[in-house]
Parts: sequence; C-alpha cells; structure tokens
Amino acid sequence: MIDEEGVLGRLSGRSPANPSQAAQQVALGCQIIARFGHEDLTLGHASVRGPDGRTIYIKRKGKALREVRAQDVMAISLDQPDGYLAPGAHLETVMHTEAYLARPDVGAVIHTHPLHSIAMGATEQGLAILSHDGLMFPDGVPIFEGTAGLVTSVGQGKAVAQALGSNRAVLLRNHGILVVGEDIRWAVLAAITLERAAQLQFVARALGDTVAIPRSAAGELFGTKYTDEFTEEYWMAWCRLVSDSQPMGLS
Ligand SMILES: [Zn+2]
Repeated sequence: MIDEEGVLGRLSGRSPANPSQAAQQVALGCQIIARFGHEDLTLGHASVRGPDGRTIYIKRKGKALREVRAQDVMAISLDQPDGYLAPGAHLETVMHTEAYLARPDVGAVIHTHPLHSIAMGATEQGLAILSHDGLMFPDGVPIFEGTAGLVTSVGQGKAVAQALGSNRAVLLRNHGILVVGEDIRWAVLAAITLERAAQLQFVARALGDTVAIPRSAAGELFGTKYTDEFTEEYWMAWCRLVSDSQPMGLS
C-alpha cells in the first residue's frame, strides 16, 4: 500500500502541470478502466490534453490497458494535420484529436469497447436513466451511426465529434464508446459509469418492465450526485486500487 501523502498524493487527476504528469495520468486512466470492464486485449485508448492546450498525450498501440505505463504514452500535436498518423499511434487516434479540436472544454478522452455498452448501442433505445449511474448522462447518450467500422479518417472523426455534441459520451453503434471529461478523473468516471449503467439496464430489463428517472429531474439530480469533490474522492480510491495490485507500476 502506498500512502496518500507519498506517491498517491502526487497522482493528481486535475489538468496536468507538465508532459510527464499528463503521461502518468493516461497510464493511470488506462489501468483503472481496465479494472471495470473496458479491457479488450490491446484495443482501447485514453488521452489527456497537455498544459499547452495544443498537445495531447495518448496511449500508443501494442499494450493492453492494464499494462500501460507512462513510457507507453506518445505526444501528438493538434496543430499538425497528419499528427494522428504518427508511427505507433492507434488507428483510431483521430477520434481523440477531433474531439479536442471540437471541444475546448475537454481535457481527457477515452475510447473503448466495453461489452454492455456495445450491446446497448446495438439497440434502438440506447440508454435509459434507471439509476444514479444513468444520472451521469442526464440528457441521454447520443448514438453515432456513421460507420460500424473503425474511425480512421478526419471526416469520420469530425462526424463522431459532431454526434458527441456537448455531451459526455457517445455510443458508436455496433462498435464501442467515446467519452470525454474536463480532466482524466471525469473521463474515467464517465467511462466506468456508462458501462455500469448499461449493465444495470440489462439486468433491470431482464427482471421486468423498467421505470426510468424522468429527464426533467435528471439534470438537477446530476448536480447533487456528481460533484468535483466526489470525483476527486473516487480518483484517489481508483489510484489506491491499481497501486495495491501493481505497487511497482505507478511510475
Ligand atoms: Zn474502436
């Protein structure tokens, strides 16, 4: 166990102060979501916007999410039109770059293939707000239907960003999810919570007809449930979780 005053105390999930902190946040984010249903062999990736606002730090291809360390993270400039094609970059890196370009408020992006969310995205109805997890997405989660294949071109990346709109998440029909956050803490929270909400919806519908939280109440309830204080608390708990199982894997 690593004490919070020591290493964990330095594992801030807020907007990174320097490139090495950004890389460490990406590694931690990948390790955390791997524990919550997002692992898909070596697929899926997280990224963080760097302190200059124009460079992103993203998992490079080759490692499983749970294996990612700071050295497995690469820098890509948003000002370089072909930056997403850099050697070692995941094929779908363009989803990240276009999300950052479209949303100046976004500090972190995650794309993964979690089982329950993909199943939900393959249905007509999409997400229903059945629980506090669903409340994370008070306006629902839009569905991108541009392609069921990989998103690899700038045009497709822009279309995903457009489908995302001002939301925290978009379901990629028959493929996966893209979630965004103000920083890595909020993006991880959105990724974990979306998958949990999808799993809960599956269980509830197996038990009977479901009763949803009215959309009219969801916005207000979101504000009381999902505060920065709670998100910080969750982030530190997730960091303890991965540090307990991988005591040598944090640096
Ligand atoms: Zn994908």
